[in-house]
Amino acid sequence: MAKKSMQDIELTGKRVLVRVDFNVPRNKTTGEITNDVRIQAGAPTIKYLSEQGAKVIVMTHMGRPKDDTDPILRLDKVAARLAEIIGQPVKKLDKTVGPEVEEAVAAMQNGDVVMLENVRFLPGETKNDPELAAELAKLGDVFVNDAFGTAHRAHCSTEGVGHILPGVMGFLMDKEISVLGKALSEAEHPFVAIVGGSKISDKIGVVQNLLEKVDVLMIGGGMANTFLKAKGYEMGTSLVEDDKTELALEIMAHAEKLGKKLLIPVDVTVATAIDAPETAQTVAADQVPADRMALDIGPETVKIYQDAVMNAKTILWNGPMGVFEVDAFAVGTFAVAHAVAKSPAYSIVGGGDSVASLERTGLNDEIDHISTGGGASLEFLEGKKLPGVEVLQDK
Ligand code: ADP
Ligand code: MG
Repeated sequence: MAKKSMQDIELTGKRVLVRVDFNVPRNKTTGEITNDVRIQAGAPTIKYLSEQGAKVIVMTHMGRPKDDTDPILRLDKVAARLAEIIGQPVKKLDKTVGPEVEEAVAAMQNGDVVMLENVRFLPGETKNDPELAAELAKLGDVFVNDAFGTAHRAHCSTEGVGHILPGVMGFLMDKEISVLGKALSEAEHPFVAIVGGSKISDKIGVVQNLLEKVDVLMIGGGMANTFLKAKGYEMGTSLVEDDKTELALEIMAHAEKLGKKLLIPVDVTVATAIDAPETAQTVAADQVPADRMALDIGPETVKIYQDAVMNAKTILWNGPMGVFEVDAFAVGTFAVAHAVAKSPAYSIVGGGDSVASLERTGLNDEIDHISTGGGASLEFLEGKKLPGVEVLQDK
């Protein structure tokens, strides 16, 4: 069932409690914001609420504090950056809940924007403590959830308040849910997925769910090693999850039964260690020397994967093809990124490291949808329900 959006409700004069994910990367000593993409991404929702004449009360988490003592995790710099982006004042409050906050909210005019202090300064937040949820809910008439990146967590500010206040999706949430939802339910075919990353155990749910939906599923990264090992190849010192080879065999058999193409590397780039790029060499996937580890997909594999991508109508990419943090092992990942960008298909990229690798290629603008949620997009692609979405009102 589709969820309500901001356009579906009356906002003028309402106190709107809006949850965003402004957990931005910061310099560890100065607290300066080093990348404000998440603030940029959430700003349109806040701007819109203000323009509609709502009293906008912004809440977000920052980091994983155990209490409220770390000054680096205060939100003053975040509020200041948001103010710059939306071009209007954002009053940063020193507390998250309580009498001072209630007073500040009572003094708001229509269109004003305030930001509460870091919700995770309160231990009840991640416990979804009903008392804290009630304290937060007291501040608003309506709940807008725009924090897709934390929608897989049932916390007070992402889920708890939605049981008390009527909740709707913000623009970012709306976009993520509709794009990813469409990919899973009504993608244009051929639908090609590329799944990589370090471990099969992290992505198994995604692989299983996607296999039912796609025409071609290509595996790369560390998790490919487990598939290769399952086929009986010796993988040297590669990252292999030995307790998952059985599962890898089951997945390959299932793909065959479904008539889906499951592609795994035919060649790999190996080295003696991640920090020994000078030892890098390409070998056939069944020829990994005993003292080498597979750290990237090889050029033959790149060609095969590129072809599949060029023939797709829909592409979903999650997880790097190799240890892209090291240039010598980033070749496969960057080649796939280029192919995805060049392909005329509708392209979706998700996953924290995949998006980071994409950013290094400078091809972001060529991608149709870059998902802002790492864990949340994974869970969504696994077919799981996200608590921060489920709690919102149905259309
Ligand atoms: P995402 O964040 O996009 O979901 P993951 O977190 O699952 O991706 O995986 C990214 C990590 O996987 C990267 O740090 C990369 O170095 C690692 N990785 C990729 N290929 C290999 C490999 N062959 N061996 C070890 N680690 C790998
Ligand atoms: Mg990651």
